[in-house]
Amino acid sequence: MVRNKILAILRQQQGKSVSGEDLGRQLQISRTAVSKQIQKLRLEGYQIESTVSQGHRLVALPDLLRPEEVRSQLTTAIFGQELVYFSEVGSTNDEAKKRAVAGCSEGTLIITETQLGGRGRLARGWFSPQAKGIWFSVVLRPPFTPQEAPKCTLMAAVAVNRAIRDMTGISCGIKWPNDILCNGRKLVGILTEMSAEMDAINHIVIGMGINVNILAAEIPLELQDKATSLQIETGGPVSRIALFVKILERLEEIYLEVRTSGFASVLAAWRQESVTLNQLVTVIAPDKTYIGKAIDIDAEGALLVETDSGIERVLAGDVSIRSLTGNY
Ligand code: ADP
Repeated sequence: MVRNKILAILRQQQGKSVSGEDLGRQLQISRTAVSKQIQKLRLEGYQIESTVSQGHRLVALPDLLRPEEVRSQLTTAIFGQELVYFSEVGSTNDEAKKRAVAGCSEGTLIITETQLGGRGRLARGWFSPQAKGIWFSVVLRPPFTPQEAPKCTLMAAVAVNRAIRDMTGISCGIKWPNDILCNGRKLVGILTEMSAEMDAINHIVIGMGINVNILAAEIPLELQDKATSLQIETGGPVSRIALFVKILERLEEIYLEVRTSGFASVLAAWRQESVTLNQLVTVIAPDKTYIGKAIDIDAEGALLVETDSGIERVLAGDVSIRSLTGNY
């Protein structure tokens, strides 16, 4: 594709100019055709300076998670080898599930700039404003039993937390089962969905929504006291692409470690970073409501709640925490 070739040459120049004539010669197209492609790249958000005497110079990349930009920085071997990009889509998890059923390879990533029908658990909506967050899903085919599927959510939580800490210095808390909180507000949501037979997993889709450069005023009213973003917490914009690449690297590191050495170190990290453990909690589960102290999670990711009638093992539910620092 001519567009990609021009972009590759401009990038190689590392900020130096290349003339339209040179570009045309290398690609065997006219200068007018070169100008047309340059114009198209500008519309995509690439900042390109052009002068008659010097030619074209790539000044800045767009703040988009375009596959070629992600790929040029990724060092992973599984995550992101297949990369599907949408400027907008209904839900990245739905796209990932479709491709998983059609047999896509493990690590296939679906990225979008905005989700029109982003989902949380139980079909709750997920606010995914244009180019302000990282909204993506990845397909895994782990050698786990279906009962072990919740491990994927724990892995994802530890990985994204680590990436955020590496990049911004912010330490967030993991709220069982699927949220990352910062100062009691949700910064990241994780949605894990599985397709399985009785004793084997066909595929797992892990979806993540990370609020990156959303300003306080841009958060919808109903989420004002529930949601936060990295920009709100750090006071400045954060590079989505750099953070995305870091998240994928951490995810792959952890996934490979779990596959070779087991789950112990993820579990230890999760326990350390959890804001749920050792708190008084009310857990509204599909079957009943549990009230008590969250004392641990087990190797399969279930929450253990010490209630008046003994220790209960909770596989899924909505937790509200009654801690000394307030309810959330
Ligand atoms: P839970 O809060 O129980 O983990 P879900 O995982 O289902 O719920 O997430 C969906 C909920 O998250 C929505 O009902 C809404 O309250 C909240 N929410 C939606 N979009 C965002 C967002 N971008 N950031 C933080 N919270 C959000």
